[in-house]
Amino acid sequence: MFRRRAHRKRVLRCPQCESTHLIFETAGIVGQVYHCLDCDYVGSLVLETEEPSTSKPSE
Ligand SMILES: [Zn+2]
Repeated sequence: MFRRRAHRKRVLRCPQCESTHLIFETAGIVGQVYHCLDCDYVGSLVLETEEPSTSKPSE
């Protein structure tokens, strides 16, 4: 039995518009703060999901 090592990347999603265009803004007293480039949401609360990388079809 093979253990398939799927490459998973953590994807951050905006809780407001579910966009993945989030950038790490700064680390303040509340911890990390993210900034959504799509809806301008700024906050420490983001949705974090794990997705298998499908960027490369085959190698
Ligand atoms: Zn957003």
